[in-house]
Amino acid sequence: MDKPARPSHQPPGVHHKTIGDLTVTALNDGMFEGSFAFLADFPADEAERLHGESFRAIPPRLAVNNFLVQTPDKLILVDGGCGGVMGPGLGHLAGNLAVLGVRPDQIDTILCTHLHPDHVGGLVDAAGGAVFPNAELVLHEADLRFWADDATLAGATSDQYRQFTELARTVIAAYRDRTRGLTGGDAVPGMALVPEPGHTPGHSGWMIASGNDTLLIWGDIVHMPGIQFAKPEAAMGFDVDPALGIATRRRIMDMAATDRLLVAGMHLDFPCFGHVVRATEGYAFIADVWTPTL
Ligand SMILES: [Zn+2]
Repeated sequence: MDKPARPSHQPPGVHHKTIGDLTVTALNDGMFEGSFAFLADFPADEAERLHGESFRAIPPRLAVNNFLVQTPDKLILVDGGCGGVMGPGLGHLAGNLAVLGVRPDQIDTILCTHLHPDHVGGLVDAAGGAVFPNAELVLHEADLRFWADDATLAGATSDQYRQFTELARTVIAAYRDRTRGLTGGDAVPGMALVPEPGHTPGHSGWMIASGNDTLLIWGDIVHMPGIQFAKPEAAMGFDVDPALGIATRRRIMDMAATDRLLVAGMHLDFPCFGHVVRATEGYAFIADVWTPTL
C-alpha cells in the first residue's frame, strides 16, 4: 500500500494579515539555534528557568522573519533576511516570494530596520550585487553613517563583528545609487520610521497605518521572546549600546501595551503578529489568532 512520505519541514512560512487597504505578509526566513550566551549580563539559570516554564527549546532557537507589504500599486519589503550568509537553514525569502508569485524585480522599496546580516544578507548575492534590481533602500541615516564609517570596521573586536561590518558595507555599496537615509517620518505614504536606537545606532521600527488599522513592525526589540517580554532588561551581547537598547525596549513595549498596538517582529515566533500586555513579570505577548480569510 502506497503511503505518502512523512513531512520533514513545515509548508512554506507565509502568513497574511490585512492592515486597512494593505496586505502585510510575514515571510519566515528560517530559524537558527542560538545560545543564552547571546544575552549580556543575564544569568543562564534564569534564562533556562524562563524557557523551561514556557516549554521552549534549550538552547534557544531564534526565528528570522521578513515582511512583504502589498499596497494597491506597490510591493514593499521590510528587511531581506539572511540570504546565504547564515547557512542553509536560513535564507528562505527568495523561495517564499516565489510562492507568492513575486519576482525580485517587482519590489519597489525595501524598508530596512538595521544593517545586521540576518536582516540584509538576502539583499545581496554572493558576488555582492543587488538582489532587488529596482528597489529603493530606505533606513535610518544613523545606521548608514555608522556602518559606512571606517572607524566601525577598524574598531571591530572580533572576526564576527568584522564580517557584520563588511556585509553592511557591501549592502550599502550595492544600493548606493538608490538609498535614502531618514531620521523619522514617512518613507512612503503611511509607512513611518520609528527610531529605536541601542541595538544599532539607527535601529528602527516601521509603523504602518492604513484605514483604521496600525501595525508596528518593530525589528529587533525582542530576539528571545521566551525571555525579553518577561525581562525587558535582558540586553543582547551584540547591542551597540545595551543600556539604550534596554530603555528603547521598555519604551516600545510600554507604548505597545498602552496603545493596544498590533506588533510584529523579525525574531518573534512565526507567524509573529500579536499584542503586548503587562504581566506579573514584565510583559507578555499574545499571539494573533489565525483566520482562513483575510
Ligand atoms: Zn536580528
